[in-house]
Amino acid sequence: MRNAFVLTLAASLAGYCQAPSRTTPAPNRPPLQPNAFHQLPLTSVLPKGWLLEQLRIQAKGLSGHLDEFWPDLGPTSGWLGGTGESWERGPYFLDGLVPLAYLTQDARLIAKVKRWMDWTLDHQQPSGWIGPVKNEDWWPNYVMLKALTQYQEATGDARVIPLMQKYYAFQLKHLDERPLKEWAILRWHDGVLSVLWLYNRTGDRSLLDLARKLHGQGHDWEAQFANFLYRDKVTRADAHLATHGVNNAMGLKAAPVWWLLTGQKQNRDGFYRMFEMLDRYHGQPAGIFAADEHYAGRDPSQGTELCAVVEAMFSLEVNLAILGDPMLGDRLERISYNALPATLSADLWAHQYDQQANQVLCTLATRRWVSNGPAANIFGLEPNFGCCTANMHQGWPKLAANLWMATPDGGLAAVAYGPSEVSTLLAGGTAVRIEEQTDYPFRETVSLAVRPERQVKFPLVLRIPAWADGASVAVNGQAMSGVQPGRFFRVEREWRSGDKVEIRFPMPVRTSTWFNNSIAVERGPLVYSLKIGESWHKIRQIGPAADWEIYPTTPWNFAITFDGKTPAGQFQVRERPLGSQPFSPEGAPVEILARGRRLPSWQIVDDSAGPLPSSPVPPPARNLQPEQELTLIPYGSAKLRVTAFPYMVPVAAPAAAK
Ligand SMILES: [Zn+2]
Repeated sequence: MRNAFVLTLAASLAGYCQAPSRTTPAPNRPPLQPNAFHQLPLTSVLPKGWLLEQLRIQAKGLSGHLDEFWPDLGPTSGWLGGTGESWERGPYFLDGLVPLAYLTQDARLIAKVKRWMDWTLDHQQPSGWIGPVKNEDWWPNYVMLKALTQYQEATGDARVIPLMQKYYAFQLKHLDERPLKEWAILRWHDGVLSVLWLYNRTGDRSLLDLARKLHGQGHDWEAQFANFLYRDKVTRADAHLATHGVNNAMGLKAAPVWWLLTGQKQNRDGFYRMFEMLDRYHGQPAGIFAADEHYAGRDPSQGTELCAVVEAMFSLEVNLAILGDPMLGDRLERISYNALPATLSADLWAHQYDQQANQVLCTLATRRWVSNGPAANIFGLEPNFGCCTANMHQGWPKLAANLWMATPDGGLAAVAYGPSEVSTLLAGGTAVRIEEQTDYPFRETVSLAVRPERQVKFPLVLRIPAWADGASVAVNGQAMSGVQPGRFFRVEREWRSGDKVEIRFPMPVRTSTWFNNSIAVERGPLVYSLKIGESWHKIRQIGPAADWEIYPTTPWNFAITFDGKTPAGQFQVRERPLGSQPFSPEGAPVEILARGRRLPSWQIVDDSAGPLPSSPVPPPARNLQPEQELTLIPYGSAKLRVTAFPYMVPVAAPAAAK
């Protein structure tokens, strides 16, 4: 458990720390539908191992210092009472800074959080309005309320709930005469989320009226996907707020959140329809759809915005709790362990706006984006536009906070895997702590040490990924039967302190099929990309941050050798030590060795990898390039990469070479 003595001691030492108000989740109150799993209050799950290290790098990087030099988060911010930026950037920053600060228990970051939170909490207007006076948009308040709910869970600050009650009373009263506009229409569900959070704590039924009103004024995502019109890259002329990538990533939670109020099966189905359409028409190997800035199709030279990555992660975390579908855990890991680190520099001081699955050159240049500018794929402080600069911080911390959830019948569920520790009070009031030791997603084994304060019976529910054929679970050395991929596996027994659960997810190399019948090489939850030599050129220094171009120093235009059938025997796995930054080319903890041949005709066009040759690529009649060994590393480690590979079936050597 979160040891009460340690908490009290920490609180008295730190002065500004308040003990969490609860260590158990707040289940949905009727008439809301019950969640499949309950998200645990912030700080119930703490990151460990390589994941904690990732958060620490964040704290030492942009996330921990941005407000010290970036004017939009500086002392003139409207969210600190100044006359500066008064829209979404302050709240976006806090939505990530709050979980980062409390999960790393970093006093410096907690002090920063306090300063921002205090201003909002101490400056609510008599009417109930919150935030900068000059903001009249409901949208940034949705984000601030998400940050406030997390802050309340971590600290128990008694000011949060009364502020929310007063604010929502104001919103309910004024929403008809002052309806949602623009972004607030498309993102209504992110507003409803905090309304329901409060309802579950107070039971005030007027909050359900407010939730319905927000839905009524909001965009109908389910209708958009019931008859999905955008099956190709949209043109700039056709682009609008409903084709916008970040809106869609946020919109992934719309139907499940609405189902909580309706209980209608069609809402659950509506989510799956949206998910499937985005995959089918815009899907990319790292698990996220392409949208640069709008739907961009399946070509791996199109891009995906970092905001869309972190918002899709957050939507999947919410949906996993509501729907309890293990597939959502698979997808959450796929995006988190591939698309997220891929678009951040190893020191977490620079990020991209758009990432590409086939990303062979990151330079200031006009590319075939739907509407993004020349800086969209460089690494820097605010390439293309500063929204991601403010919003990127939530990615790792919220993933860590959602690795474990509570089951409605008083147990715990591992819904996604990563080194962590969960502490909570079970339904009967017994404190339990589980330590999860693992180097997942790089390694196959997960070890759980179960530590209840006294002997107690509860279900331990383990997600078995769909790719994990032959997965095994053993409790105190005894193998369990009935473990099935793509399902939750339940171990219900009387647990004693020191019980050990050993899980193994076999990770043979797999392939998946993408644009123009290209293949991606996968192992476990990771997608692998060609390792390309990277030369980083600093374009300019901006305070402690900098903008960078990356040029390739080794060739990238290969067709991989593959028989089109089974990957067994065609790829070799080489494990390397797991260091402090696995998401860098030199720190990649796993390499996959493949064979391939140069395709001289595949060249850069418009500063991206040119049209992807259709696979299988026929061996050329003349000038067949020699086969050579290719090294693949995790997608997230490769800042230049080819991921969707053309492939060529094995070709017999033309003559016996001596
Ligand atoms: Zn963004």
